[in-house]
Amino acid sequence: MSAEVRAPTARVCERCGREEYWDESLEAWQIVRDDGDKQAGNPHCLHEWDINGTFNPVVERSD
Ligand SMILES: [Zn+2]
Repeated sequence: MSAEVRAPTARVCERCGREEYWDESLEAWQIVRDDGDKQAGNPHCLHEWDINGTFNPVVERSD
């Protein structure tokens, strides 16, 4: 019995492209940095998070 259950660890806004990842130590969403640039999207966006694409209840190997 070693099935690993995972919460979503990444999410992307479908409206403005903001990208965030889950920081386990801070227990908070953090903005993804790409080459030092924060992928913050539009600060006034209401953010429509797409987490379904990255949410895997059970970790599987796919190689
Ligand atoms: Zn947004």
